[in-house]
Amino acid sequence: MQRGKTADDPRWHAIVARDQNADGTFWYSVSSTRVYCRPSCPSRTAHPRYVQIHDTLAQARATGYRPCLRCHPDQPSVHAINRDIVVRACQLIASSEHELPLEALAVTFHRSPSHFHRLFKATVGITPKAYHQACRAQRLQQQLHGGASITQAYYAAGFESSAQFYEAAPRLLGMAPTRYRSGGQRERIHFALGQCSLGVIAVASTSVGVAAILLGDDPEVVLRDVQDRFPKAELVGGDRQFEALVATVVGMIENPCIPVNLPLDIRGTAFQQKVWQILSSVPPGATITYAEIARQLGTPRATRAVAAACAANPLAVAIPCHRVVRNDGTYWGYTWGLERKQALLSREARGQT
Ligand SMILES: [Zn+2]
Repeated sequence: MQRGKTADDPRWHAIVARDQNADGTFWYSVSSTRVYCRPSCPSRTAHPRYVQIHDTLAQARATGYRPCLRCHPDQPSVHAINRDIVVRACQLIASSEHELPLEALAVTFHRSPSHFHRLFKATVGITPKAYHQACRAQRLQQQLHGGASITQAYYAAGFESSAQFYEAAPRLLGMAPTRYRSGGQRERIHFALGQCSLGVIAVASTSVGVAAILLGDDPEVVLRDVQDRFPKAELVGGDRQFEALVATVVGMIENPCIPVNLPLDIRGTAFQQKVWQILSSVPPGATITYAEIARQLGTPRATRAVAAACAANPLAVAIPCHRVVRNDGTYWGYTWGLERKQALLSREARGQT
């Protein structure tokens, strides 16, 4: 009688699959056993000919059958209760300026900390702590887009100190906060292409300092590299004053042993900046290994990440990533070519003698 009808109903698949997500959206009754159930009922699934699907619990009750003793269709399901807990926990975390300790959340929802943590992660996909950070990041981005100052934004986003904020911001925003703020506007970057003994050189500078020193063979390729590194910026050709800066940079490349006090605008992730800081402490004529940098960072196994950070260095020679060698002393890759690395190192070695 109901056969074709029930088996053709898309909800029948939810019954067969015992889909917990379908609980609360419909009920079904079984004429052969004279009970009614929720979709996720663990009992053996009846033949669809005996099954009738009901949109509401009242309709299921109106059959006059008994509520199933396995799935308790009249009570909220465990799944629905858990889902409700997680939804309320998300609301609580999102509205809280400070991170709520796991223990406090667990107590609020009458669960053990480990059970609550598992339940939250299984439902949301991330831990409560990560969810809190994501909410903070979202608030921060809204604040910064809304034109608030960075100081206003971090207080609004629930950071206690600017140090805490600057530590967390690159991870949360994917870049440094001042850059994010200016992301909407077009930052003016002065640049110039020139020629040095190592080939074509491009120097790009912000109002803070030199942000990129790039080397190459082809002026067009080098120029594209500048554009790719500052996709949102307005690139402005250098003026006479800027030419003097370029001359200083070229001088530094020709004579790497002469110390130059160049204002730099170093842009990178917190990790990259730490690696570059260690590189900058290596004097001309000396070298350092990737493993040694990783060791100094306190993460001795992170040599690959260190190598990636060296390769991402936007300031050729000014941040001396050419002074990194492998454990066996051999040169490894250099963003601007092995030949240039060797030329710089032999120049520095000569300068030492
Ligand atoms: Zn049942």
